[in-house]
Amino acid sequence: MTIPSGSTQVFRLNTDETQDEALRIAAAAIRRGELVAFPTETVYGLGADALNAAAVERIFSAKGRPADNPLIVHIADIEQVSPLVCSIPAIFYPLAAAFWPGPLTLIMPKSAAVPDVTTGGLDTVAIRLPSHPVAQALIRVAQTPIAAPSANRSGRPSPTLAQHVLADLQGRVAVVLDGGAAGVGVESTVLDLTTSVPTILRPGGVTWEDLAAVIGDVQLDTRVSDINTAADLPVRSPGMKYRHYAPLAPAVLIEGEAPFVWEKMLQSLQVDQPQHPGLLITEEGYDWFTRQPLPERCEFVLMGKRYRPDTIAAGLYAALRRLDELQVDRIYMEGIAPQGMGLAVMNRMRRAAGGLIVQAEG
Ligand code: AMP
Ligand code: MG
Repeated sequence: MTIPSGSTQVFRLNTDETQDEALRIAAAAIRRGELVAFPTETVYGLGADALNAAAVERIFSAKGRPADNPLIVHIADIEQVSPLVCSIPAIFYPLAAAFWPGPLTLIMPKSAAVPDVTTGGLDTVAIRLPSHPVAQALIRVAQTPIAAPSANRSGRPSPTLAQHVLADLQGRVAVVLDGGAAGVGVESTVLDLTTSVPTILRPGGVTWEDLAAVIGDVQLDTRVSDINTAADLPVRSPGMKYRHYAPLAPAVLIEGEAPFVWEKMLQSLQVDQPQHPGLLITEEGYDWFTRQPLPERCEFVLMGKRYRPDTIAAGLYAALRRLDELQVDRIYMEGIAPQGMGLAVMNRMRRAAGGLIVQAEG
């Protein structure tokens, strides 16, 4: 079924018939140098032919993305790696065998085939083989690697539903493939293979613990481990220097263990006395708050289970969009343990809070 939407064609991929026709139209758009938004297992991507500089420039203008923020090149087959790079480090093979297809992006020295605009002028290229069947099929039918950042306007939360893509990019993208909710909910892990010890530049869908189990030594870029000193450090992953998402209302992130983190949230509410606060909270936190005296007009937006960071990752971006819709005047975010998928969740929350972080102690 096609739903015309301004100059954007939207396809709901619910039957096999629709799927073939939609993929053919979307792949033809990619071949013509146009933009296609498509589901991946992390978030929705805004894709263009990675080898066509003019097409890739359209991604930057549609998103309002700074030109020095490089894109991830998506492939459907491991054979597509070698034309994109000038050398393949030995560590690539065990990583690809363990985590591809999946939410791991690998950085390697780029070949001349990759236009500078795709890599934001860097001499390295970021490559990922996604596991989502629609993403794979689109790349195969288009017969070219697809450069794709998240399909949101720059500064907005990444889209986990086709309706989020349309809210941001209606009329700015030729085709939207609606494949339902993206599963993981946060972006891929970006791992730099050009350093002597592989370096996590962005935590994401594959955890530090998973990587360490396969290759042993993995380091976290200082910008990820310490957001407070990040502004003074040289930039390794240009995307990390931009405020990822600024909620409309001022936001504070409260970190610590339960129940101290909830007590501190309540205490901050009592001190600040906002007119219309929004609490970004886990299910456990919500249960605790229902037993407390609360200010009027306090909005709760639930993001998942406290000790299941994967459920929080899946709900985080939709919850951030919801807080904007509710037009709250101040946001309080419940921090979780930065372990496993919690590392990626806390990285996104710290950046949404713009560094305004409070520690709750028992
Ligand atoms: P997005 O596609 O919006 O999820 O952003 C892609 C992320 O990958 C950004 O944080 C980029 O800075 C990072 N990235 C892409 N290519 C490179 C590269 N060649 N070197 C370092 N970081 C990269
Ligand atoms: Mg993005």
